[in-house]
Amino acid sequence: MRMVDNKKKYLLGIDLGASSLRFVLGERSRNNLKLLKKSKRSFDSPLCGKVGLYNDSYYATVPAHSLIADFVKNKLFEYFEIIGITSANIKGLGISVAGKIQKDGRFIGSNVPLKYAEKLGGEYGVNLIVSLKEVFNADTVNISIENDAKSAAIAQGIYYMSKDIEPDKTFYITLSTGIGGGGLRKDLDEIGHIIVDGYYPDLIPACGCGAVGCIEAYASGEGITNQAMKIVQMYCENNRNFEKLCCFEKIRTNERYDLKKIVGCSKLTKNYEKNIPIDAKSIFQLSGISGAKNMKDAFAYYLVDTASERLAKVIVSISNIHGIERFGIGGSVLENNPEYAKNIQEKTSLVYGRNKDIFKKPIVVEVTPLGKYITDYGSLCLALNGDHVIIDRLL
Ligand SMILES: [Zn+2]
Repeated sequence: MRMVDNKKKYLLGIDLGASSLRFVLGERSRNNLKLLKKSKRSFDSPLCGKVGLYNDSYYATVPAHSLIADFVKNKLFEYFEIIGITSANIKGLGISVAGKIQKDGRFIGSNVPLKYAEKLGGEYGVNLIVSLKEVFNADTVNISIENDAKSAAIAQGIYYMSKDIEPDKTFYITLSTGIGGGGLRKDLDEIGHIIVDGYYPDLIPACGCGAVGCIEAYASGEGITNQAMKIVQMYCENNRNFEKLCCFEKIRTNERYDLKKIVGCSKLTKNYEKNIPIDAKSIFQLSGISGAKNMKDAFAYYLVDTASERLAKVIVSISNIHGIERFGIGGSVLENNPEYAKNIQEKTSLVYGRNKDIFKKPIVVEVTPLGKYITDYGSLCLALNGDHVIIDRLL
């Protein structure tokens, strides 16, 4: 049985991430946007830095600044062949990328090696649009490109709209190795680099962006793991500093946490001593927030609780500045631990204390209703060119 009908017209979504390049088809019937899950295919990203990625003799004559775009184009042809369609079956194309989109439609991100970008008007960028326009009839096929978090926010907003929730007041956050986010109205997508302060000096992390104390470096999957490692190392190797930290945390948390009592007996510390790596998955599992049958490890819970508290401060700030009332969170950390959203929501009310702010609007924090398909919907919604649709999540 054919996966798709080569007599039909489809929407094509391309997601260019740091590690993978994904293609997916969507079908618009009346006002519904249907995601064709089985049409999804994933390839190595041209940004992944794998040795030999451009070894094919085809690339030998391609200028460096066109390599990424040509790679995407070649994989697109490969995808068409696998799926059994041609460019004639596509009526709209949406591209979501891990990076910022410039005024001229080029994009640049921290994962793009500058040798593969072109400097025009003082800005480095990669032009995907020009080479993809060679594949499609530019007069009839709409091609759009957008930041990946922003694309996800657009898709999530379309879903919320179908539930009578004003999309402009919603925001998407992705919580995985890093932290990103986007809303519909504002140019606000690098939220991972909002700086949170007020923590023990030796635990303030350096961020990949060059700053210290960014929320991403504290509360992403990698951030939580690094905080755990630093505390355990301090406990094992620098007792004096650890004593100071215990004192600091006792005062900061109003005696809710006594690290002296919980670090030494934690499974995480025992794992560290046995050279078993500490990772975000084990921290969340041990924390017991997912209601697992495992015994709750108080130190693991402290790590998750502290990250959640920091994230809640950022969420309240975004809400206050941009009038956001609902945050849908996606990404691997939330997919694996959906209860974490509830924990963050509880923390947002603590930031306010007993008196709600002047806006008198409660903040809702929840797992994004589009779940693990949000990226697919994100790129497909760009292909719609602003047409009104309803996302039928039940597929
Ligand atoms: Zn940063």
